[in-house]
Amino acid sequence: YYILAIETSCDETSVAIVRDGREVLSNVVSSQIETHRRFGGVVPEIASRKHVESITVILEEALKVAGVGLADVNAIAVTQGPGLIGALLVGVVAAKSLALALDVPLIGTHHIAGHIYANRLIGEIEYPALALVVSGGHTELVLLEREGEFRIVGRTRDDAVGEAYDKVARALSFPYPGGPHVDKLAQGAEEEIELPRAWLEPDSYDFSFSGLKSAVLAEINRAKMKGEPVREAALARGFQNSVIDVVTTKAMKAAAEFGVRQLLLCGGVAANGGLRAKLSELCGKARLPLLIPPMSLCSDNAAMIASAADLKWRRGEFTSLDMKADPMISLEGWSVGKEPSPS
Ligand code: ATP
Ligand code: MG
Ligand code: FE
Repeated sequence: YYILAIETSCDETSVAIVRDGREVLSNVVSSQIETHRRFGGVVPEIASRKHVESITVILEEALKVAGVGLADVNAIAVTQGPGLIGALLVGVVAAKSLALALDVPLIGTHHIAGHIYANRLIGEIEYPALALVVSGGHTELVLLEREGEFRIVGRTRDDAVGEAYDKVARALSFPYPGGPHVDKLAQGAEEEIELPRAWLEPDSYDFSFSGLKSAVLAEINRAKMKGEPVREAALARGFQNSVIDVVTTKAMKAAAEFGVRQLLLCGGVAANGGLRAKLSELCGKARLPLLIPPMSLCSDNAAMIASAADLKWRRGEFTSLDMKADPMISLEGWSVGKEPSPS
């Protein structure tokens, strides 16, 4: 069977064709980064308009690359949320039209379930598993006791990791999105400015990054006030080490506490070189199997949406055509075997 998936939650327009839930035949991604760069971040109205302009072209491209015709498609999956409402709407309207015209089931899909299940496109997930989700809008530890069952055991109380990276990058005058620039600068640094780590309560798996971000901004201001050069690389390293130390320590602790058989790293920040290396090292020592998607499946893409939707496809859990894009949709509520909870 073929699942056609659409992802338009933020600034990537993507369509993928996935065979039997696992085999990616095409995963076409059109990024709007260049458009948004001069504004220093994603402008929601422009994002929606760009999605409208791109969606049919990307759809045709995805079918062509996969060598699949619309008549072969068995289900339409689409990101229902979270994301920018106007951006989500474009994908949802396209998906509904296709499902109606082709008379095939529609599967509204949770974007973060997609990031997590990107890992199922590269390997076999062993349950219980723990996912460390690090993206532009989310930083969460998600326990999966069974396939498609999500329980959030820790989450950020303020900034997401990607958001903190982007803000620090901006203060260091890097273009949007700044995460990869800070990563590169940190990895090449010869020195490190030690920065605080927010551990929160000893038994908490929650995160906080706004204090760390403020510490970086304060150091930049201090240097500028004194007319000293800003030690950018040392600062980037200190910031990156603080983030990595906290997220990996909490992930390993939760993995031990919940007795998981596997750790899954995912989300846009999973592209971070330092994070990938540190987590691989820790999991190696703990003999805990680790899955990390390749870069192309870490950032927003539709193949991961097809992969998550496949959980519901195989259980015959479809979404009504009057489904609405939902920027606040709950991950736990999206678990298999549940009625979607209204938000
Ligand atoms: P969400 O998935 O929470 O809705 P999003 O879809 O906007 O948010 P993603 O596309 O998953 O986020 O990730 C984008 C984020 O990843 C950006 O904040 C970007 O700076 C960050 N990022 C990408 N590569 C790296 C890297 N190498 N190091 C650190 N951050 C990175
Ligand atoms: Mg993006
Ligand atoms: Fe994302």
